[in-house]
Amino acid sequence: MTQADHPCFNASVRSRFGRVHLPVAGDCNLSCGYCNRRYACVNESRPGVTQKLLRPEEACEALAKVLSSMPQIRVAAIAGPGDPLASAPATLQTLQMVKKRFPSLLLCLSTNGLALPEYCNELVELGVSHVTVTVNTLQDKNAASIYQSIQVADSPLQGAMAAQLLRERQEEGVRRLSEQKVTVKINTVVLPSLNDREIPHIAQTVAGWGAKIMNLIGLIPVAGTPLAHLPAPSSSELAKLRTEAQRFLPQMTHCSRCRADAVGLLGEKHILQPFLHRPPSSCVSSPA
Ligand code: SF4
Ligand code: SF4
Repeated sequence: MTQADHPCFNASVRSRFGRVHLPVAGDCNLSCGYCNRRYACVNESRPGVTQKLLRPEEACEALAKVLSSMPQIRVAAIAGPGDPLASAPATLQTLQMVKKRFPSLLLCLSTNGLALPEYCNELVELGVSHVTVTVNTLQDKNAASIYQSIQVADSPLQGAMAAQLLRERQEEGVRRLSEQKVTVKINTVVLPSLNDREIPHIAQTVAGWGAKIMNLIGLIPVAGTPLAHLPAPSSSELAKLRTEAQRFLPQMTHCSRCRADAVGLLGEKHILQPFLHRPPSSCVSSPA
C-alpha cells in the first residue's frame, strides 16, 4: 500500500480503493455555523452524521468485519462526528489499535486544526499519512460570522482573538505535518456571499504552508443552524472557484461529502452500523 492509494487524494484510484470512517470522536472545540451533529439518521448523508458513536474497541472490531468483506478498503480514517483532536484520547487510541492490528492500512484524519500543533508529533509517530484541515477563512470578520466561538483550555474565545488563534494553529499544524511528509489536504466549505471571494487567497496561502491539494465543499444548508439562510453554491459557482483556486493548488473534484461512519468506495451508501452486528468475519458475505 502506498500513499497514492488514498481514493480522496488520488482520483484515479477512487473506483478501486475505499475508506472506512471510524466514528469515535464525539466532541468538538469549535462551533461552525453550518454544523449540526444531532442526526443519527441512516438517510442523512453529510459530514458530522453517524448512526452511533463508537468506542475504540468497537471501531476496531467493526473495521475487522468490514475488511473481511471489502478487500478494496485501503484507508482507516477518523472524521468525526466531532473534531478528532477534540476527542484526542479516543482518536489516538483507535489509530494505535488499527495500526497494530491492520498495519497495511493507510491512516487518515480530518480536523479543524485548532488542536493540531499539540498532536502533530503523535500523529507522525503513529504513521498517519494523510491529514485534512478545514480552513474556511483567513479573515477575522468572516471568522466571526462562520464560528460562534472556539474552545481553548475549557474556555470559549470569540472575535478577533479567536480567529487569529485558529489561523495560527492551522498554519502551524499544516506546516509541521507537511515538513514531516504527511500529505495535507485543505477542505474549505464554500459559503456564498460569506467566504467565496477569499477562496483564491486561501488557496494561495495554504499552498505556502505546504498543503498539497484543496477540496472546495459546497455548503449543505442545515435547518436550525446559524448559516441555514445561506444558499448552497451552484455547481457552476463551484467550478468557477475551483478554476481560480487551481492556479495555486490541485483541486479535488470528486468529494462525496461523506458521513462520519461511511464505508466502502466513495459515493457508495454503505455505513458502519450493520458491521457492528455481524457474525465473525469467516461467516460474512459481501454487503448488498
Ligand atoms: Fe461541526 Fe466539524 Fe465544525 Fe466541529 S469542526 S463544529 S464537528 S463542522
Ligand atoms: Fe473523501 Fe470527501 Fe468523503 Fe472525506 S468527505 S472521505 S474527502 S470523499
